Amino acid sequence: MELIENRYQINGVDPIELCNEYGCPLYVYDASKMEAQYKRMVNAFKVPKLKINYACKAMTNLNVLKLFKSLGAGLDTVSIQEVHLGLKAGFVAEEIIYTPNCVSFEELEAAVALGVKINIDNTSILEQFGDKYPNYPVCIRVNPHIMAGGNSNISVGHIDSKFGISIHQMPLVHRIVESTGLKIEGVHMHTGSDILDVEVFLQGAEILLNIAKTFPDISYIDFGSGFKVPYRVGDIDTNIEELGERISNRFNTFIKEYGREVELAFEPGKFLVSEAGYFFAKVNVVKQTTSTVFAGIDSGLNHLIRPMFYGSHHTIFNVSKPEGRQRFYTVVGYICETDTFGVNRKITEITEGDILGFRNAGAYCFAMSSNYNSRFRPAEVLIHEGKSYLIRERETMQDILKNQVEHSIFDTKNDVVEA
Ligand SMILES: *Cc1c(COP(=O)(O)O)cnc(C)c1O
Repeated sequence: MELIENRYQINGVDPIELCNEYGCPLYVYDASKMEAQYKRMVNAFKVPKLKINYACKAMTNLNVLKLFKSLGAGLDTVSIQEVHLGLKAGFVAEEIIYTPNCVSFEELEAAVALGVKINIDNTSILEQFGDKYPNYPVCIRVNPHIMAGGNSNISVGHIDSKFGISIHQMPLVHRIVESTGLKIEGVHMHTGSDILDVEVFLQGAEILLNIAKTFPDISYIDFGSGFKVPYRVGDIDTNIEELGERISNRFNTFIKEYGREVELAFEPGKFLVSEAGYFFAKVNVVKQTTSTVFAGIDSGLNHLIRPMFYGSHHTIFNVSKPEGRQRFYTVVGYICETDTFGVNRKITEITEGDILGFRNAGAYCFAMSSNYNSRFRPAEVLIHEGKSYLIRERETMQDILKNQVEHSIFDTKNDVVEA
């Protein structure tokens, strides 16, 4: 986003005009930013075979899935519904990897029927799967027991985590493989979000490569994701270029030793789409209290829950007044819960009716939205080559009522004749 002559612009498009056209609150995504992030990853890793699988749970709009497909990405999915979305967006089954956790065996069977790559993350399911589908090669998700990032909600590789098969259980995995005849075609790790330390990542990679060596039929090794993007001014992101160079060197040595052109795979979500997204909402009330000035917006945790759920920081700015005197505001929502987007944020002086913008609204924002308080989910707009495209309509009362089944059992007769 650029500030040109006191007007914000996303790839040449004025967000205020978008809000006028499509209504507020509104999600807006910049396709060029997603493309740039994808290319940055592709350029960072210099190996014979590289696959970037977009972790679509971050943002599941079909047009965004198609965009990544057109760039050559594969798809990382965590539910059978996401698998269906991927197929609908045009991915072929082999380009989709299904990485579920604690799902039913029936859901895995549905994935087999669709022919997608399957990543299994516990030995109980691995055994059942091997018994039933000995000829359907799978990937195993390994928990390398390394600690990545600072937030335990998003660190999924440590010892208490529910994700993955422990490195200490590899002898059991080998016994299952032997007794069922199942082939292990891939090994995978995903240690959670926000990896800043390249060393930690390399440690995990080393563990995974050592495990891969013990299986003779490996065709891909998936190092997951956890790439950090900047949220605040001055935040550092994962040094993808440094990581790329060091992982590539190590991986190229590995494939020489292994004697086969194994594919190197990653599955970023946040890294590809977070910074491409903006969320815009109108200020309903400016409320001075004894302790602070609240800016109450026409939205809430129903549309953007990350600040309340993870304590994530989203930069908030006044789109209607890019320049001028700044004051401190606590930005809150309209939900009947405490839904604070940001405390004591320095924002250019807010007048009721102004539009506020939120950065980093591409990943886990719309995807986590709900109808709480019976509110409609917002529309989504994609900007591509200076043009805006409506990619999801705002909901209506019909959507709220869609699955409600109304019975007459509690109907009351209203004796009062209404005027
Ligand atoms: C969520 C998820 C990702 C993506 O994580 P980001 O932090 O958004 O990059 C990748 N792999 C798996 C298995 C996931 O569950």
